Amino acid sequence: MMNNPLLDFADLPLFDRIQPEHVAPAVDVLLAGAEEALQTVTAPDFPADWIEISKVLDVASERFSRAWGAVGHLNAVADTPALRAAYNEAMPRVTEFWTRLGSDERLYAKYKAIDTGRLNPEQRQAHKNAVRNFVLGGAELQGEAKQRFAVIQERQAELSQKFSENALDATDAFAYYAQPDELEGVPQDVIGAARAAAEAEGKPGYKLTLKMPCYLPVMQFARSSALRERLYRAYVTRASELGDPAFDNTALINEILALRQEEARLLGYPNFGELSVVPKMADSADQVTRFLRDLAVKAGPYGARDLADLRSFASEHLGLRDPQPWDWSYIGEKLKEARYAFSEQEVKQYFTAPKVMAGLFKIVETLFEVSIRRDSAPVWHPTVEFYRIERGGAKVGQFYLDPSARAGKRGGAWMDDVRARWLRPDDGVLQTPVAQLVCNFAAGVDGKPPLLTHDDVTTLFHEFGHGLHHMLTQVNERDVSGISGVEWDAVELPSQFMENFCWEWDVLRHMTAHVDTGEPLPRALFDKMTAAKNFQSGLQTLRQIEFSLFDMLLHTSYDAANAQSGDVLALLAQVRAEVAVMPSPPFSRTPNTFSHIFSGGYAAGYYSYKWAEVLSADAYAAFEESVGADGEPNIETGRKYRQAILEAGGSRPAMESFKAFRGREPQLDALLRHQGMAEPQPA
Ligand SMILES: [Zn+2]
Repeated sequence: MMNNPLLDFADLPLFDRIQPEHVAPAVDVLLAGAEEALQTVTAPDFPADWIEISKVLDVASERFSRAWGAVGHLNAVADTPALRAAYNEAMPRVTEFWTRLGSDERLYAKYKAIDTGRLNPEQRQAHKNAVRNFVLGGAELQGEAKQRFAVIQERQAELSQKFSENALDATDAFAYYAQPDELEGVPQDVIGAARAAAEAEGKPGYKLTLKMPCYLPVMQFARSSALRERLYRAYVTRASELGDPAFDNTALINEILALRQEEARLLGYPNFGELSVVPKMADSADQVTRFLRDLAVKAGPYGARDLADLRSFASEHLGLRDPQPWDWSYIGEKLKEARYAFSEQEVKQYFTAPKVMAGLFKIVETLFEVSIRRDSAPVWHPTVEFYRIERGGAKVGQFYLDPSARAGKRGGAWMDDVRARWLRPDDGVLQTPVAQLVCNFAAGVDGKPPLLTHDDVTTLFHEFGHGLHHMLTQVNERDVSGISGVEWDAVELPSQFMENFCWEWDVLRHMTAHVDTGEPLPRALFDKMTAAKNFQSGLQTLRQIEFSLFDMLLHTSYDAANAQSGDVLALLAQVRAEVAVMPSPPFSRTPNTFSHIFSGGYAAGYYSYKWAEVLSADAYAAFEESVGADGEPNIETGRKYRQAILEAGGSRPAMESFKAFRGREPQLDALLRHQGMAEPQPA
């Protein structure tokens, strides 16, 4: 047991030594330790004192979550059947403990008894969050209400699971075996995959499905309008009464909404929308709907112009005088090709991985007054790099960078924390933060460095922004340091903020070198990229607003308990009439697959995407306003941003941090300007 690397907390995780057989014994030990700590601090004679509780409970739970975090991380980046089995086997025990901890009434009572007058501001914020989470978890309810709350939670979990299964099954159930002459215009790789899929089933033709890698390119590129219509109709009626009744989500939607309404009322809120914003940055559901409506009014004319562009292009160049719903993606792609002829392939040649990394580090070092150096740590794969961030010669944080795609590694990109900055209550040692930055870039070929698409570069900057939020924090209280305790609708501020640099000419020309010639990105190509970036941004914005407003109204003004079948669609129609410009067919049943809000944790929270975009754009505008004549960003602005936003982490409300940086509340202007929706107003 002494040799179990998961039980070594001396410093960094021993990623090179952790084996599947270590998982179960480590969970046994750590779970027992956390359990004992919970019993200790909730004993009647244990003092209701923040530090005393933290010394016992937080120290034990920290070990547990760090070890489990290491296992989860390996499961994501170095998956093997044995590790997956060990992970899945331990998972229910781990989840059960955290759920129980979060609803332990004795612990809640102990927290409530703490004299907050003696806490420092960071501790007070952490304490406030802890108590709030208990209350929202039903800790204040008594008797029948408490029982009913538990029943509602359980039923909601079942319904959201069923909703997502239906959406998935309805998607999977569709297949159309196309003939070769129907596939004109569809990219060769999609055709190849469709042929292989049919062959695998011993069928002739080409198997087309509603999964994104097939559906999207068919809608964008297939010349056959009939083929597009066939797939479109199937797609927008998935999991509805217009498809297989076995997968119909209609009744589930009404039950989910009614239960959420009931849950909100049990907790003393008029509706689920108001309950949902309690732990968020937004003050009220009403503030959110006003924000969305304001944005809709501003984006409206640009959306209308985008639609007019599509109509006139379709009529003049494609012979489509009366475009149907299944034509828009196709028209959009054709117009995009005509306007901004350049390829992702051409752009890629300029973004070599080492040059991009050096460019990213340079910006961070200059702007935030730190230096980034190579460091060493046990890693899970030889291509993983490890760095330390220093200020004034002192270590402030460290991070792993796992850049390349490989077998056994989950797709996508993400940032995760290994440990948070924390002034440990037990030994008084200041623990420095450590982050994981994981990407999936294609490997280099023929001995050349890896080439990144511009999307890859933006993703890298995005994740690095989350990483900086985690690593540059100066907060000493674990649960509000870095990204911990930051409101859900504000947490994307630092990440989206960093993306802006990927659209700066002065940044890009120093961050690019053609893989063969070493030449920086040509200005003409950059201009085309920028123009294409905002292609149809008006329509896209209106679409996001439509989803967000529909989501919030469903959870505020919609009376689910007394609703008739079809009322959800009537509400959607009303929202569309208010904010949309693109026509939608009467048979469309998009709410039936709106998994974000019915099974994905975004209920009354879909607006967060736009909300955080406003914050990040407005924060970035401070840098645009203060940029020097040489194109170099202003150090003072960088320092202010670092101190107000990054260093403060979750230790105070995000609005306070934003105001400390910007000197005022957020405004929409910068976002509209960045997305090409500022002056001159289209007619
Ligand atoms: Zn993010």
